[in-house]
Amino acid sequence: MNPPEVPFFSAAGAALGVDLGACLQAAAGSGRYILGPQVQAFEAAFARYLGVAHAVGVGNGTDALTLSLRALGVGPGQRVLTAANAGCYASAAIAQVGARALYAEIDPQDMNLAPDAVQQALQEGGVAAVILTHLYGQMADVPRIAAACRAAGVPLVEDCAQAHGAARGGRKAGAWGTLACFSFYPTKNLGALGDGGLVATSDAALAERVRMLRQYGWAGKYEVALAGGINSRLDELQAAVLLAKLPHLDAANDARRAMAARYRAALADLPLRLPPPAGQDYVAHLYVVRTPRRDALRAHLAAHGVASDVHYPLPDHRQPVRANDTDEAPSLPVTEAACAQVLSLPCCPGLTPAQMDRVIETVRVFFDGKSPC
Ligand SMILES: *Cc1c(COP(=O)(O)O)cnc(C)c1O
Repeated sequence: MNPPEVPFFSAAGAALGVDLGACLQAAAGSGRYILGPQVQAFEAAFARYLGVAHAVGVGNGTDALTLSLRALGVGPGQRVLTAANAGCYASAAIAQVGARALYAEIDPQDMNLAPDAVQQALQEGGVAAVILTHLYGQMADVPRIAAACRAAGVPLVEDCAQAHGAARGGRKAGAWGTLACFSFYPTKNLGALGDGGLVATSDAALAERVRMLRQYGWAGKYEVALAGGINSRLDELQAAVLLAKLPHLDAANDARRAMAARYRAALADLPLRLPPPAGQDYVAHLYVVRTPRRDALRAHLAAHGVASDVHYPLPDHRQPVRANDTDEAPSLPVTEAACAQVLSLPCCPGLTPAQMDRVIETVRVFFDGKSPC
């Protein structure tokens, strides 16, 4: 099969204009490959960018979630509240520490955890932590959810793996929670040339625990002082790439927002549910439309050379690995409907106006039946 004429991800675009070869050479020639000056510099720069006191580079976004829960002391017998439509990353981390996921319903508009559902679950009690994913790059109602968590004395972990640079009232995603987790998987808004992740927090004691847990639980070399440690470090090469790309993140997010605005203007009259207009609290990591005819639209796009994807087709509580769980399946009709209807259109740096035109025309033809001009 030929590669699609409109791809879902552009490697050239993801470089954000940075000379990656120079980064590779500098890192390769430095003689320091693990937890050296590049990691330190990137941690400091990213903490400053977010407006938090501490940033700890780790191996990937899922480890960032796992180590955050572990640093909070969440473990077996405890429950962590989260959404069931966010790709199972939070659920994997919750399982990794031996805790159980408790799923709350999402908001039908932004598809993030609904504040009322969070509040109700917190009132019922027995929640050890909340993981709040800013899905698709759209910030959740984090002011209300953070306030509810504070009132209940329950720590809030933000999953910002799709929301690098999003902000509400000038306060960045990642600066609201007790801890916040980032992934630098290559397709994210800030992506490495491989795996990478980070935990942000303004709590010095929690930051220190994550620092220890990412490296065997060491207090210092070869002294294991904290149980539950693993090996999950951001490496120098990835940190060098991320440090060079960070100054270009805001411009790249603006470009993504402009694409989202263009889609919105061109598709608004179709029987499609579109993301809300793009403000600073949306960094358009994904441009996700909803239609009951999702699978047919996706096949039509593929037949016309337009890549698309579904984020995510299976809610966490319907994943095969949960089949043996004794918990009754929760009733989450909004979550289920979202998973059945969501379709992600190409929206990434490097996408050309002509490619966007092609996506728009192809979607319009599906609904209007007119052929592209
Ligand atoms: C990508 C992603 C993760 C996982 O990050 P990895 O680096 O792939 O482990 C977690 N949460 C969300 C919302 C993501 O999009």
